[in-house]
Amino acid sequence: MCMVHNENDDAFGSPWRRSLSKVTAVRGQPCMWPNMGKHWFGKHILYSFGTLFLRPIKTLYGGYHAYGVAGLLCNITNMASSLQIELVPCLQDNYAYLLHDTDTGTVGVVDPSEAVPVINALERKNQNLTYILNTHHHHDHTGGNLELKARYGAKVIGSSEDRDRIPGIDIALHDGETWMFAGHQVLVMETPGHTKGHLSYYFLGCGAIFTGDILFSLSCGKLFEGNPEQMFSSLQKIMSLPDETNIYCGHEYTLSNLQFALSIEPNNEALQEYATHVAHLHSKKLPTIPTTLKKEKLCNPFLRTSSPEIRQNLKIPSAASDAQALGVIHQAKDNF
Ligand SMILES: [Zn+2]
Repeated sequence: MCMVHNENDDAFGSPWRRSLSKVTAVRGQPCMWPNMGKHWFGKHILYSFGTLFLRPIKTLYGGYHAYGVAGLLCNITNMASSLQIELVPCLQDNYAYLLHDTDTGTVGVVDPSEAVPVINALERKNQNLTYILNTHHHHDHTGGNLELKARYGAKVIGSSEDRDRIPGIDIALHDGETWMFAGHQVLVMETPGHTKGHLSYYFLGCGAIFTGDILFSLSCGKLFEGNPEQMFSSLQKIMSLPDETNIYCGHEYTLSNLQFALSIEPNNEALQEYATHVAHLHSKKLPTIPTTLKKEKLCNPFLRTSSPEIRQNLKIPSAASDAQALGVIHQAKDNF
């Protein structure tokens, strides 16, 4: 198991994180370190463990594999742990993610919008499917559930709030709960705003979070069943994670998001640099995902609601709250 440490981590800094430190409910498979959830955000303990056990993170950006299946690209990111994460492009611009624990052979998929690309990816490696994790109920995140469940007997996992809306749901999870994926602790984070009951799954040991349609690279989700306050609060939860957290979102929207971000914060140097990187990836037909929380904090306008440049360009009063500013940014993007 790899461990990711951020020395500047504001341990127990937010009410949500304080509640995380009290998490005791562990579902699924036996926990390798039963009390790790209690201590995970303890700065000094975390620092000690991080120093002792941190292994080099080996992100195989050079290892994107074009499989030549319907012209789709897949990539495999080795998180320097027994968990491998593979992007599976689906539909127009969706990503499903295959999770493979190499120690146990357990395989899961996050948000299979359709079954065929997932089946193809599994068959290439002669793998079975044990779990289907859904971030929310929208069809472009759950469309493959029933076919995959019927074919592999996989268990479908989603929010207790979406018990009636996620096809084939078997295991309903709650905010703050810890669920185990083959020995990997997964923190269940309720992140409403796009839909009620939207979940993000945070794999603590590998510093990876699956954010569905709540946080994209350079934008956030539409407010279908929520308001700016809820969205802001959900994004704050995610922002309380370590900066090096890898973010795996539900869509490849980065290039189009970039145009809007640059239009309201053209002098942001980090954003300009990211624009160059995104253009390069796009020219090579490579995914821009995963992104990192650090990069998003520097570049994503929805995480930069206090930026003077953004506020000035969108005429957001200095007295406006961050949630109000987020609402204005959202409106501006909808009209962009
Ligand atoms: Zn959605």
